[in-house]
Amino acid sequence: MKKEIEENESTNFIHQIIEKDLLEGKNGSRVHTRFPPEPNGYLHIGHAKSIILNFSTAEKYNGLCNLRFDDTNPMKEEEEYVRSIKENIKWLGYDWEDRCYFASDYFEKMYEYAVQLIKKGKAYVCDLSADEIREYRGTPTQVGKNSPYRNRENDENLKLFKKMKAGEFPNGAKTLRAKIDMSNPNINMRDPIIYRILHSAHQNTGNKWCIYPTYDWAHGLEDSIENITHSLCTLEFEDHRPLYDWFLNELEVYRPQQIEFARLNLNYTMMSKRKLNELVSKNYVNGWDDPRMPTISGLKRRGYTPDAIKDFIERIGVAKNEGIVDIALLEHCLRDDLNKKALRFMGVLDPIKVVIDNYPDDKTEELEAINNPGDESAGTRKVPFSKEIYIEKDDFMEVAPKKYYRLTIGREVRLRYAYFIKATSIVKDKNGEITEIHCTYDPATKGGNSPDGRKVKSTIHWVSAKDAIDANVRMYDRLFTVENPLGDKEKSFKEFLNPDSLKVLENCKLEPNLKNLNVGDTVQFERKGYFILDEDSTNKDQVFNLAVPLRDKWKKIRRKR
Ligand code: ATP
Ligand code: MG
Repeated sequence: MKKEIEENESTNFIHQIIEKDLLEGKNGSRVHTRFPPEPNGYLHIGHAKSIILNFSTAEKYNGLCNLRFDDTNPMKEEEEYVRSIKENIKWLGYDWEDRCYFASDYFEKMYEYAVQLIKKGKAYVCDLSADEIREYRGTPTQVGKNSPYRNRENDENLKLFKKMKAGEFPNGAKTLRAKIDMSNPNINMRDPIIYRILHSAHQNTGNKWCIYPTYDWAHGLEDSIENITHSLCTLEFEDHRPLYDWFLNELEVYRPQQIEFARLNLNYTMMSKRKLNELVSKNYVNGWDDPRMPTISGLKRRGYTPDAIKDFIERIGVAKNEGIVDIALLEHCLRDDLNKKALRFMGVLDPIKVVIDNYPDDKTEELEAINNPGDESAGTRKVPFSKEIYIEKDDFMEVAPKKYYRLTIGREVRLRYAYFIKATSIVKDKNGEITEIHCTYDPATKGGNSPDGRKVKSTIHWVSAKDAIDANVRMYDRLFTVENPLGDKEKSFKEFLNPDSLKVLENCKLEPNLKNLNVGDTVQFERKGYFILDEDSTNKDQVFNLAVPLRDKWKKIRRKR
């Protein structure tokens, strides 16, 4: 199922709700949101949707947005993830100021709230095992059964809960459950677990706790403690909202409003920290920031800009219905952004040498080239030209088919910003591979202009051989060969990894002006695409990553509709 995306969709139902609340003076007309990642992996483009929504909504209504690490699970969380999450949010251009919180800082308060619930007769300690609890819970069509421990006295519950906290029981021996309704049509309301025993150290609280709150118990409390006004989350929590409200109402504390929106799904990739972690830990990719990864760190290293990502998120809009967005739209947004910003250069990725026989042996000319045809203020630069140059191998054919208009023996083409050249002969090695193409040039066509109105059918790029700098270029393609790598129940997503998702070109020849680039700079190689200078560059060899090729698949898709 593919969702049709209208490029100019701007109706954001969440903003409509907020505007109504502001008009009614709800929450003292404050807007306070939060972005609540669990630090169990690097953030992906789906999280970018949530970050942008939360932070830009706060910005729009002069409100605040907190960063809150939802670190209630002691098992999987790491310092590196906390660091990368902060870095990603800053890179996207947002600021949580002094409001970076950890859910684990509220453990004591959460415990007190649980005690309060027990005293009210609204929570009990249950000795059923995890399997039994599941069994007693029932199904969507069948009501659940009350736990035999449901009617424990408040005092006994209190005593047992304190013992749970004191570490007197092993993992899984007991849970604390809310006493709601085992026949509620909403399964989440059937006496949900609010604390479980886990003898496990926590990155923030160390060995202080051996009982940990569940997501449902913790999340609403975190929002309430932080005075969040609008708690924006993804649709899978819609069925949890009654529970969110129930907890806060029973505790008689401030209750934020939970609003759900559709998560972002993108084709040819996947959005799950757990599964992305598997790609990293089993070395299917080179780390969380591998440019093929849909992580924010990966996109950054691929050449994505915060502006391109924001444009993408704006175009897909915020809605209540789930859909799958075409990754071509994301690529289109990057191309759109870089088209305005990236300076043009010439780079030959798969070089073959051309010798211009009638050009003086030792001469070098500095020819003028335009830095960005769409932006006059970007100016011009000088590019050296000499007798021996490189062109792309596939810009020459010995035997040219009918519609091939580039270089072949006897045909004239334009060298961008330079001259018209005509191929006269080729040199081959003993394997029959072409090693050199010999040409003549017409000195009257300097700058690539014909003096007599003579037409050529194509213009190709080139680099002066003696001036060229060497580079490795990583050509990236989609990470998966199918639209939905998680769509086949029989097969693992790993079976759909694209074996050609990375090809390294090792003999690239680039114009010398690229020498002064800094890591992270993005440029266009004319006729090829947009490339970013990677941190793996050395003094000897530059390393570029392909951000996007020039050909826009999204435009084609839109035309077909
Ligand atoms: P994952 O399964 O990738 O770990 P998650 O939802 O468990 O995702 P969290 O760290 O809990 O990850 O998410 C932080 C916030 O980002 C949550 O509010 C969540 O709803 C939101 N979020 C996560 N994935 C998406 C997505 N694909 N689109 C939009 N928002 C998302
Ligand atoms: Mg999660």
